[in-house]
Amino acid sequence: MAYDDQNIFAKILRNEIPAIKVYEDERVLAFMDIMPQAEGHTLVIPKAQAVTLLDLNAEDAAYTIQVVQKVARAIEKALDAKGIVLMQLSGEAAGQTVPHVHFHLVPSSIQAMRNHAAEMGDMEKIKANAEKIKAAL
Ligand code: AMP
Repeated sequence: MAYDDQNIFAKILRNEIPAIKVYEDERVLAFMDIMPQAEGHTLVIPKAQAVTLLDLNAEDAAYTIQVVQKVARAIEKALDAKGIVLMQLSGEAAGQTVPHVHFHLVPSSIQAMRNHAAEMGDMEKIKANAEKIKAAL
């Protein structure tokens, strides 16, 4: 699928719009979801231009999942998470709303998670969770 470089995560990667970042290196960025499905909902995205997991090259896929694991460990430690849902939606048909591949880390359970991309979170709480996760990284 053709990559639209005006999508919201592409703008975050170019620092054209703000994000509450918790981790960044040359290949990957992790930041807080602003419509969290649970406290501490974090997104991990490769910087490579890919719409879905199916479009992502194997090297970036492998590297990104290592960062997903690193951030998941930090979330567990920072928020005393008893469980973390790892979610990846590939394609509009799956419910994907932002066309840049990303991994959701939701410290919750599949039964208790709030609805997807439904309601803006409390920005002060989100920032406080980000500080805790950063400190645990
Ligand atoms: P998906 O539907 O899997 O593409 O997920 C997109 C996610 O991005 C949703 O959970 C949204 O809440 C989240 N989101 C949308 N815009 C932003 C933004 N500007 N900053 C952080 N998260 C966002």
